[in-house]
Amino acid sequence: MENEVVLSVSGLSVSFRMYTKGLERRELKVISNLNINVRKGEILAVAGSSGSGKSLLAHAILGILPKNAVVEGDIRYLGEPLTKKRVAKLRGGEIALVPQSVEYLDPLMKVGRQVSPDESAVEKVFARYKLDKSVGKLFPFQLSGGMMRRVLCATAVISGAKLIIADEPTPGMSKELADRAMKHFRDLANEGAAVILITHDIDLALGYTDRIAVFYAGTTVETALASDFDSEDKLRHPYTKALWRAIPKNGFRPTEGTQPYAGSLPDGCLFAPRCELKGEKCACGAIEPRNIRGGEVCCHYAA
Ligand code: SF4
Repeated sequence: MENEVVLSVSGLSVSFRMYTKGLERRELKVISNLNINVRKGEILAVAGSSGSGKSLLAHAILGILPKNAVVEGDIRYLGEPLTKKRVAKLRGGEIALVPQSVEYLDPLMKVGRQVSPDESAVEKVFARYKLDKSVGKLFPFQLSGGMMRRVLCATAVISGAKLIIADEPTPGMSKELADRAMKHFRDLANEGAAVILITHDIDLALGYTDRIAVFYAGTTVETALASDFDSEDKLRHPYTKALWRAIPKNGFRPTEGTQPYAGSLPDGCLFAPRCELKGEKCACGAIEPRNIRGGEVCCHYAA
């Protein structure tokens, strides 16, 4: 894929400054050594279980982390550093978020006006999402969860964004509506947008995305082509293989153990306590990504 890289994130880490006893302060690292990139015309799914750092990544890109967050690493949009000042200008325009929580809508404003002051543009984009134009005259509390999510998708579409970050956009939707929402993201990518799709539903995402970045305990463990998920053997990292086995159509087989909590991460590979492949090298140091069979993996022994 040779399309222009719209967003690249390299070596990102996010910590939160916290007070423990009295004025004693500590930093809790929740994301470390995280790397992704997304190109024009592409959907990159970001997958992993809850607490793996998926939504925090979205908030770090958008510059909307809380004040006690410490962000390190390199985030570039169209090749230039995405500084706080720059992202503040682009947010809601070239860079759009379809948020996880419908609470992002203003409860006191009719939804049509929240999408755009241009009523005919709203009508057009609502038609795309099978929303009647009368929906624009309603307040958020009058909408079902599924309708609200479609309104949020419409908001991103109407902004003409070059980069769309969709943070779990389909929960609460029927399979049919979720497929339709995914198809809309696919259409937007085909029209030239770069889409980051944050999801825990790999099964749904697979039919629509180009690549999948797999997160575990706040770090990227593998970035694979969606087609690599056709078979376990094509995948590289032991955790990605475990995720594959946990997909219902692949037998719904769980892996023993749980993802470590940010405050008690092991040294070395974060997956080591659950990994059957672990060896001597796995206990210490950060693991740099390697290119293997057209994908990128952070594992000493992946082949
Ligand atoms: S680096 Fe070692 S412990 Fe981590 S996934 Fe690879 S083999 Fe397993």
